[in-house]
Amino acid sequence: MKGKYILPAVLITLTLLGMLACHSNTVTSNTGKKSIVVTYSILGSVVKELVGDEAKVTVSIPNGLDPHEWEPSAKDIEAINKADLVIQNGLGLEGGLEKTLAKAKSSGVKFFTASDYITIRHVGSGEGIPSGDPDQAAGAEDPHLWTDPLAMKEIVSALASQLKSNLGIDVDARAQDLEARLDALNGEISDEVATLPQDNRKLVTGHESMGYFSQRYGFKLVGAIIPGTSTQAEVSAADLAELKKLIEENRVKAIFAELGTSSAVAKSIGEETGTKIVKLATHTMPDDGSYFTFERNLAKTIIDALK
Ligand SMILES: [Zn+2]
Repeated sequence: MKGKYILPAVLITLTLLGMLACHSNTVTSNTGKKSIVVTYSILGSVVKELVGDEAKVTVSIPNGLDPHEWEPSAKDIEAINKADLVIQNGLGLEGGLEKTLAKAKSSGVKFFTASDYITIRHVGSGEGIPSGDPDQAAGAEDPHLWTDPLAMKEIVSALASQLKSNLGIDVDARAQDLEARLDALNGEISDEVATLPQDNRKLVTGHESMGYFSQRYGFKLVGAIIPGTSTQAEVSAADLAELKKLIEENRVKAIFAELGTSSAVAKSIGEETGTKIVKLATHTMPDDGSYFTFERNLAKTIIDALK
């Protein structure tokens, strides 16, 4: 019997909450600012620095979740469809979002695809582990462009001019400042890497995520636990046996485990080859939300582990 009295109270509460929610939505949309949706947190951080208060920037894929596999809710899809501009990484990074992005694009939503403005890295022959996976075959396009600050600089420059021509937002002064700071960051990391003997500059990671960083700072990609540019690629016993051999032959000093790396698999490879496992944040933002902190942490973790 009590349930009958509880139900109306619940309904009233839900109605009130609904009204509050509607009210707060109205307030946000009344600011008159253009809405920019960025698919991914690391790219989103740079976009926020560039745009400042000139537009409302939101990120679809929550920080800490794997961009290769994340799938959107109905609310996320709505935000993308209503955006004045959607900024995506491209090259297959946003695996679970791709259908949503393609639909939005075909219905006329404006897009900026970051990877259109950089020199795309292709998986090199003899790099990593040869496997039947087309994502890893020599020539496959690598989406992990954010590990190179100078690729981010090219994106900032291209985005600044598109914001002006497409949305009428002038961020030229902010772009110049950001580009100068990205140049300085690159110089700082180059100087730090120079302290590391060339023979120690060898990377084994959870998946093939450090290609742009390696290319920029002269590291060798020895192999990856998941032999592909996505965490969703398959791994076989033969691939793992090959990886162990490569770790030993190259006298690799550390195995870098990332988001999406099986800690059990990493641990067993580490134990069998006598190599330490080091956690490396390649796909997640630090607490301060700064790309500069992200990239400095990335370089510092690698340099400290390989000394
Ligand atoms: Zn990745």
